[in-house]
Amino acid sequence: STTRTPLMAGNWKMNLNHAEAVVLVQKLAWTLSDKRHDYGKVEVAVIPPFTDIRSVQTLIDGDRLAIRYGAQDVSEHANGAYTGEISAAMLAKLGCSYIVVGHSERRQYHGETDAVVNAKAKAALGEKITPIVCVGEGLDVRQAGEHVAHTNAQVEGSLAGLSKKQVAGLVIAYEPVWAIGTGEVATPDDAQEVCAAIRGKVRELFGDEAADAVRILYGGSVKAANVAGIMAKTDVDGALVGGASLEADEFGGICRFY
Ligand code: PEP
Repeated sequence: STTRTPLMAGNWKMNLNHAEAVVLVQKLAWTLSDKRHDYGKVEVAVIPPFTDIRSVQTLIDGDRLAIRYGAQDVSEHANGAYTGEISAAMLAKLGCSYIVVGHSERRQYHGETDAVVNAKAKAALGEKITPIVCVGEGLDVRQAGEHVAHTNAQVEGSLAGLSKKQVAGLVIAYEPVWAIGTGEVATPDDAQEVCAAIRGKVRELFGDEAADAVRILYGGSVKAANVAGIMAKTDVDGALVGGASLEADEFGGICRFY
């Protein structure tokens, strides 16, 4: 849509130390300036590991870069005896614009349920940080033809109790698990089918304004060579990018897809 600013978000996962993070963000800024990237036209964000965020903040603030950044996870709790956890307030203090919640790797390896994802989204919103709420089906569900029902159930559970206004400001990432890190990208029509269904679910639950404003990203083996076809679809408002976000030229190409 013309009213929703596309977002390209690079999820680095557990890669790059803080010194390597600075190099990658510098290279990304250079490549985007070479390509005359218009940040007003397509928003760019990097999502590094927690230990890199302070360094990324210092670089981005110091050089007044238009790149935004965020975290890959957050505690559902505000503070207290939760050894090893990071709070939304801590991430707000570091200037994070986004927090990814409910990534399939968190759901799979850390048993995160929709209720946990919902609590984490609320924790982020409580600190005025935009959650990027991840949903998407595994291969078995896709093969059974249940992908829309499955994904919409995750949307309903993960957004429970949010206000219409909060949902309007959200980012939802549709990431079919079978396409993550596999090189097997969903077809543009597959991405559109589920992103449109998600928007329909948001419309049913939260109304027209929220549905028309919420940004829905596709994620799963997005590369510079396949992004344009996906971005041409009406209900796809950007991409959540894993592997390809670790190379400045490749991620720069994704951001400058237009
Ligand atoms: C992801 O993990 O969010 C992702 C989309 O990974 P990849 O691009 O590597 O498939």
